[in-house]
Amino acid sequence: MKKFFIYLLSLICVLFMLPSLFTKKKQEVVATVEESLEEKVEDSGEEKVKYDYTKYATIKLYHTQTQTYEEVPMDEYLYGVVSAEMPADYELEALKAQAVVARTYTLYQIMHSNGKHGEADICDASTCCQAWISKEDRLAKWDENVRNSNWDKIVEAVDSTQGEIITYQGEPIDAFFHANSGGTTETATNVWGGTNFPYLQSVQTAGEDAYSGYNSEVELSKEELVKQLKEKYADLEINFEEEDAIKIIAYTESGRVRTIKFGNIEIAGTEARTLLGLRSTNFSFTIEGDTIKFTVTGYGHGVGMSQTGADSMAKSGCNYKEIIQHFYTGVEITYVNEL
Ligand SMILES: [Zn+2]
Repeated sequence: MKKFFIYLLSLICVLFMLPSLFTKKKQEVVATVEESLEEKVEDSGEEKVKYDYTKYATIKLYHTQTQTYEEVPMDEYLYGVVSAEMPADYELEALKAQAVVARTYTLYQIMHSNGKHGEADICDASTCCQAWISKEDRLAKWDENVRNSNWDKIVEAVDSTQGEIITYQGEPIDAFFHANSGGTTETATNVWGGTNFPYLQSVQTAGEDAYSGYNSEVELSKEELVKQLKEKYADLEINFEEEDAIKIIAYTESGRVRTIKFGNIEIAGTEARTLLGLRSTNFSFTIEGDTIKFTVTGYGHGVGMSQTGADSMAKSGCNYKEIIQHFYTGVEITYVNEL
């Protein structure tokens, strides 16, 4: 009966990921789900591999506000990250996926930060590394009636995945994540250039449009638009009388703006996002009178795991491993001690 239930859940999960079957190789996705299903069934009968953090037992955290350093046990640090990065009312499987992603991201920083934060491994700013909040501050921000249950859920998400990390060819991945992809994630190279990470490819997820607050609009007068762009491009000139004064020149494979023309300059969509304060590069625009209105879908760079996508997959019956393997192409979930 239990087995039947697991199969049923996974079937629903596969159906839910149907949009991705059109972009990813169909067999690949089904195989991934079947593999994790096998693992899950095995897991239920066997004891978990014992994790051993050894060199990663504590991390040195840099507090950006107070400019102080603190040594924190890894799991305790992760309680603070998961509770800062994802709403506690998301599904437990989504929170578990976030815990594994956060642990992996942390390890990657420890191994590759190259002294970015002096003697610290990582900082507590979401704009730089990943957000972190102390237990005291976190509890104070929750309503009293959900305070304890929320915290218990965060702790369970971290503890039940203890020692688990995401690897690609045996190495921890650079586990990027973001709030809302608008339905399709972005490949890393379209955001940061350089060599693409094979595990950070564009994938589709159904259900992200059900989350409110992730579509936005930015309205600028012509004068404001020119002023903001001139901060970077002093010799910018836009003749709004021309038909294509502003024009999207190219889109990325995921449908985001790759290049946009403003008068005599052509810039990357990512740069337009920064200069104009847009929440993502998935935008369109209209010009009405003196106003340029940008309509923006999703929130964040769009690379790696979408948090709302993770939650909507969990709601459809996917477990955290299926969520992770959906957003990070060709990865495995292993243990810290196997590094
Ligand atoms: Zn940092």
